[in-house]
Amino acid sequence: MSARGRLTMLVVFFLPLLHCVLLEGAEGAPWFWRWPPIGGGGGEDPYCLSWRVMVEANNAKGWRRVPAPCIGYVRGYMAWGQYYRDVGSVADQVAAYAAQIVPTADGLDAWVFDVDDTCLSNQPYYQAKQFGAYDPVAFKMWASRGVCPGIPAMQWLFQTLRGRGFRVFLVTGRDEETLASSTVANLAAAGFFGYDRLIMRSASYRGQSSVAFKSAVRRQLVAEGYRLRGNMGDQWSDLQGECVGDRVFKVPNPMYFVP
Ligand SMILES: [Mg+2]
Repeated sequence: MSARGRLTMLVVFFLPLLHCVLLEGAEGAPWFWRWPPIGGGGGEDPYCLSWRVMVEANNAKGWRRVPAPCIGYVRGYMAWGQYYRDVGSVADQVAAYAAQIVPTADGLDAWVFDVDDTCLSNQPYYQAKQFGAYDPVAFKMWASRGVCPGIPAMQWLFQTLRGRGFRVFLVTGRDEETLASSTVANLAAAGFFGYDRLIMRSASYRGQSSVAFKSAVRRQLVAEGYRLRGNMGDQWSDLQGECVGDRVFKVPNPMYFVP
């Protein structure tokens, strides 16, 4: 066989075979071996699509990790465009709603934003963990690095609201004592600057549920006179409880559940 013939055989038969073999053990492999993404890029697996809709609608509660058959689906959803389209749609809805509100001159019209997977993305961390169960030690190590990418549509929305005269409060369950400096630096690097206050979980709120902690924070803001025009979060626990705001907006997140 000529050199050209051997090359043709290699291309036609062996490279696709090698590709398939590598796909079999693709978990943790470089992304380019996982093309096309398992689960059709997040839009074609009926079971996992139903599961994701249940999650976003708050019908699925208390789950500790992405179901095993949906790990590839969630990876595809997050990494191949649909997630960013969905976040962009949320941002558009928020901007349209906010455009109907004229902030008053007293400067007390405000928005509340969650931080993790609302402003800053933890996708690289959860993808590396195969969307496994919450690991507080590993997550704290990741967050302390301050390298979470910003979520572009949310950064645009954040600055749009600020530009319109709304105050923006960032409220996060991250531990204030250990993660304050890395979180501030990470937010600034991702384009989130000019917020009124970053309110983190202080020692007195340790052990409290997210709903209890965030309700207490919002209650305090309302007591200070702020009118909470809107509230953004990737978890329903960001959006429930007391003083939730005039409207709540759920940012998609099929990676984990915070009660
Ligand atoms: Mg969050």
